[in-house]
Amino acid sequence: MAGAHPDALDLPLSYPVYCGAGVRHSIGEIARLAAPSHRVAVISDTTVARLHANTIAAQFPAERTRLFTVPPGEQEKTRARWAELTDALLDWEAGRDTTVIAVGGGVIGDLAGFVASTYMRGLPVVQVPTTLLAMVDASVGGKTAVDTPFGKNLVGAFHNPSAVVIDPDVLRTLPDDILRSGLAEMIKHGVIADAPYFDAVLRFADVMREHGAAAPDFVASITTLIVGSVRIKADVVAEDSREGGLRQILNFGHTIAHAVERVLNFEGLHGDAVAMGMVAEARIAEYIGLAREGLTVAIADAVERSGLPSRLPAGISLDEVIAATHGDKKARGGTAQYSLPRGIGEMEAAEGKWAVAVTDEAVRAALTSP
Ligand code: NAD
Repeated sequence: MAGAHPDALDLPLSYPVYCGAGVRHSIGEIARLAAPSHRVAVISDTTVARLHANTIAAQFPAERTRLFTVPPGEQEKTRARWAELTDALLDWEAGRDTTVIAVGGGVIGDLAGFVASTYMRGLPVVQVPTTLLAMVDASVGGKTAVDTPFGKNLVGAFHNPSAVVIDPDVLRTLPDDILRSGLAEMIKHGVIADAPYFDAVLRFADVMREHGAAAPDFVASITTLIVGSVRIKADVVAEDSREGGLRQILNFGHTIAHAVERVLNFEGLHGDAVAMGMVAEARIAEYIGLAREGLTVAIADAVERSGLPSRLPAGISLDEVIAATHGDKKARGGTAQYSLPRGIGEMEAAEGKWAVAVTDEAVRAALTSP
């Protein structure tokens, strides 16, 4: 229903974020306003292209629009795919008067966003997230990147979108495990900033566990929660867009999560790694005396009720995970840094720093203690 899109959310961001069922049918109109251009390059993965990106591309003039696809999966978020996409744009003779529309999960948001940030020194990008994780987290904040064999997201750029268009209706085609993995970043938002939001996510997780996307009022309930998460993230990035300070709290759970993903060669879902990473980092926070007793139990309960893993994968080498934390973007002087909570809704801030150095010995002791 073109023309009937909701108003942009009232957020402290320099670009509009639209969220509502059916808003994907107005992307043509939204992009024409937010990022007017001669050509439109829609970038997606092959799964999402078939389900959603084809119809989104059809909202733009056919002779000036092209759909570019890569295979789905984290293992495709590489410099090789970036080179392939930028070559394809060059071959199409796309100039600076081109807008990129990124339609997909966080992998496409990061990859297409990085293409947009670098092609001819920067093209506008409209982010159209199609997974829960990308809706609540990856699409807002302007971080783009690709992975390398040395670690995740190590080559990238800050590149704000011209607009973000979130249509929770598309979640109906998302497999259950991928839908659930998005709950991990929502739990994280509750832990870092908002205890009542944490409780609301848990109530929703209980309903989801029973019914999945077939739950009564699924789209209405999830829309409310997506807006809640976007608001929390927007408040944080508005204060610190380049991760010099407060934005580091968004990394709660991610030092361990990124290390696990690297050890597992990026197989598995990012949200699952974040879930186990949050529980592990809560244990570290309690072990070093920073968090109140009971935090680990509360976060593990939230993760398990969401159907997400609370323990590191069976058989994974803790030594390898700890070694991999040194390759994290946040590591300083060879010591891994952790953004840690004191309690639900309350992060640690010491002398204006939102990440603390924790020695390998303390991490090992925390994660092997009974
Ligand atoms: P993903 O992009 O790999 O998507 C998961 C799978 O779902 C893919 O196979 C995809 O084809 C499929 N899919 C997507 N939408 C669908 C739909 N509507 N229906 C059916 N299938 C659909 O994974 P993800 O979990 O969305 O994103 C993870 C990535 O996001 C990681 O690379 C992570 O680093 C990144 N991330 C970035 C930020 C940021 O701030 N830039 C924040 C969080 C996460």
